[in-house]
Amino acid sequence: MPRENISFQFIQKGNVDDQAVTIDAIVLTESPDKTANIQIPQAIADTLENNRQRHSNSNSQSPRLTLLPTHGFLNAPYLIVVGNEMEDIRTLGHDIVQLARRERFSRLLIELTLPASKQERSRWLQQLAEGMYMANYARQTYNSQAKSPSFVTQAHLLIGELDAQLEKALESAEIISEAVCHARDLTNFPGNYLVPAILADEVQAISDAFDCFVCEILDEQQIAEHGMGGLLAVGKASINPPRMITVTYRGNPKSDDVIGLIGKGITFDTGGISLKRSDNMAEMICDMAGAATVAGVMQAVGRLRPKCNLVFVIAAAENMPAGNAYKPGDVITTMSGKTIEVLNTDAEGRVVLADAMTYALQKGASKLIDIATLTGAILVSLADVATGAVTNNQDFMNQLMTAASAADERIWQLPVYPEYKEMIKSSVADVKNTGGRYAGSITGGLFIGTFADHAPWIHLDVAGTAFLDKQRGIHPKGGTGVMVRTLIALINNH
Ligand SMILES: [Zn+2]
Repeated sequence: MPRENISFQFIQKGNVDDQAVTIDAIVLTESPDKTANIQIPQAIADTLENNRQRHSNSNSQSPRLTLLPTHGFLNAPYLIVVGNEMEDIRTLGHDIVQLARRERFSRLLIELTLPASKQERSRWLQQLAEGMYMANYARQTYNSQAKSPSFVTQAHLLIGELDAQLEKALESAEIISEAVCHARDLTNFPGNYLVPAILADEVQAISDAFDCFVCEILDEQQIAEHGMGGLLAVGKASINPPRMITVTYRGNPKSDDVIGLIGKGITFDTGGISLKRSDNMAEMICDMAGAATVAGVMQAVGRLRPKCNLVFVIAAAENMPAGNAYKPGDVITTMSGKTIEVLNTDAEGRVVLADAMTYALQKGASKLIDIATLTGAILVSLADVATGAVTNNQDFMNQLMTAASAADERIWQLPVYPEYKEMIKSSVADVKNTGGRYAGSITGGLFIGTFADHAPWIHLDVAGTAFLDKQRGIHPKGGTGVMVRTLIALINNH
């Protein structure tokens, strides 16, 4: 996949001139403190001051990063100056690498002002490195004429001694970012490549790369034998048959506590018989982003080995129209025994997730989190700015919110008043698969919650946040790998 690891090197303060390193650009803060090794030469400081005055005259904001040639005043051809008001460290790391890649710089020397306390320093470094790693990602292109992307390969950090805590911070950043990028790759794969069986192979490959997982893949025959009527119904009209993918991890064999992470893996969603309009239908390659998040988290777990138990469940299918497709009006019996009245075949995610929830419980999950590109309605509520959440357990939700704030990912919790549950009651089955246009994200979530069987459960609707039509902040265009960092933080705190 097109991304490059950044090799971080630490340079002791005072030793900067002894290091025989070739650097493309030096990164400094606008006003380095007196103890800084590298001071901005007067000539460059004058240029910066001129720039600032020009910006204040034009009322435009002064740029957070300024790129200047050094004209031989420093040991690198270019200088990147960081504005004093850069507060968000992940974004800072991201923006530095993005600028460097645009200029095709691969080797950076970075001297920034660090927080004084040790604890704060390692957090600062982890955030900076996460931002840098995540910006060093390029989506796979299939353009035969494309110029190969440029990456940052070396970052020399002038921050003094590398202690164990800082080393761990860097390692965590690398593991977490790699998991995010892996989820992005899976999300971005074209639908003709990533069919359910290939998604299963991809998850199997992650499982095989570590010795801590047990992976089970059910084919369409076994899905039928298990009575997974929801997954079977949604997947049956495609020539690419469905798969139920399960991976178990026991990091704490003494405990019965098992978190189930359940991903919606619709590898392409045409809407089925309730066919979608053709505009933007191509984006539906991302309808397995929930599964991609689960796979990304799984990869991080393989490397971090947290002391908790997990079961990862992915319900993978392709939702197609055909002569044998499931139809509006059909009644489906799920693995749980509960029946679903189908009113709209485009509300298929919840139908496959019904079986995935039941299967996770059967595999021992005591708590459940489903991640799904579930509803267009979530874009009406939150645009692509925040992930929507629905839960049946406020304590569990609060834990996830704490993790999300540490990871700096946005989750907005939606209400679950009893009236919303009424909206998905069916007259012919236990539940119907749509409650209509109003409160569609809530009723969609509550539908899935019907299959939680009283276990603490959270539903994350990433339909807005998993795939962007243009870059925003640290989130690239296309697959974002959203919620990977939050879920890893939750697992680490558990
Ligand atoms: Zn759909």
